[in-house]
Amino acid sequence: MPRRKVDLLILGSTEMVTMNGQPSEDDLGVVEGGGVAVDAGNIVMAASSELLERRFVGRRSVNVDEKVLLPGFIDPHTHLVFEGSREQEFQQRIQGVPYMEILKGHGGILETVNKTREATHDELLSTAVSRLDTALEAGTTTIEVKSGYGLRPYDEMKILQVIRTLRRQHLCRVVPTFMGAHAVPPETDAESYTRLIIEEMLPEVRRTGLAQFCDVFCEQGVFDEKQSMSILKAAKQAGLATKIHADEFTDSNGARVANKLSSTSGDHLVHTPARELERMAATGVTPVVLPSSSQSLLAKEYAPARELLALGLPVALGTDFSPANWTLSQVAVAWAAARELRMKADEILRGITINAAMALGMENQVGSLAPKKIADLVTLKVPNHKWVSYAHSDGLIDKVFIGGRLVVDDGKKLV
Ligand SMILES: [Zn+2]
Repeated sequence: MPRRKVDLLILGSTEMVTMNGQPSEDDLGVVEGGGVAVDAGNIVMAASSELLERRFVGRRSVNVDEKVLLPGFIDPHTHLVFEGSREQEFQQRIQGVPYMEILKGHGGILETVNKTREATHDELLSTAVSRLDTALEAGTTTIEVKSGYGLRPYDEMKILQVIRTLRRQHLCRVVPTFMGAHAVPPETDAESYTRLIIEEMLPEVRRTGLAQFCDVFCEQGVFDEKQSMSILKAAKQAGLATKIHADEFTDSNGARVANKLSSTSGDHLVHTPARELERMAATGVTPVVLPSSSQSLLAKEYAPARELLALGLPVALGTDFSPANWTLSQVAVAWAAARELRMKADEILRGITINAAMALGMENQVGSLAPKKIADLVTLKVPNHKWVSYAHSDGLIDKVFIGGRLVVDDGKKLV
């Protein structure tokens, strides 16, 4: 049989982790010596390198040189576009000042809001691009990015426009989320601001098509259950899918809102009662847990990942990158998930690939190495996949491919 010509053959891994195993078992679909045939940016076949060489001729061929080959990492929760940083506030937290107290004193997010309002589109773009480059060099090929540091119509749209420019210009796949309801701006109250979001901002988001998701910070002292519900309902009517920051600091009925609306994901879930976690299997809400965020807040409590896994839920992991939690590395999150959430390597790898894709409604496009999926791949300089969560993030990433194009080599972005 003549061999089929394809654009690219990636060959010679020590092991390839396809994520095509049975989710209920410790089975990630590992293929020793695996490789991938790619054509027109998509995966044609993921199999052993010998089989691929018998079936295909590559117009180009890349030997991954005995590295571990995985689907590109997916980060389903970031607040990437903002101006400034808050290392000073972190010092306060280290000395025992709680985050909600910092927020009441107009520090925390409100400090970032002031700086972000003052920044131009191009200033925000320039810092966002360099952050996205960092994420890419950390092996992330798909990333969700929220607005939420403008908190008034002009500035929220400015941030969404920055995210649109990132989508068009950057190598990473960027998923845009409108999160006007990230905090209550100091010049108004939650009730009036909720009306502003519903009556002015969401119609503008709909008109411009600048977001796929709408997210709300449902929390005591921020947006309550009723306000969160009305914003997300209006978002649904505007054609957006929904997400929610649920029960991060207290049980604020956030997961209940997610379940009622069958949201795509419910994120944080640190204080969610068991009955709402149990409902998630039926409502189809993907739980997103963010252990490095809890670490940065010096929290004593973490999301109940083992309970979520015992319920058979597809637990996804994200960075929650923000000025309060400065990491864009899913390998660093994996490290935290093992230590703080007691997640095993197979659970963590699903959490940063296929389950994270589910949290973005993209599980048919990315997140595993299967025919017709986009050829987004990463190779790691480790002996086997269990090193993810064993080693910290330094220097693990070797190559990153996006749509079959080599974009990072030896951990550095190619220009
Ligand atoms: Zn967040």
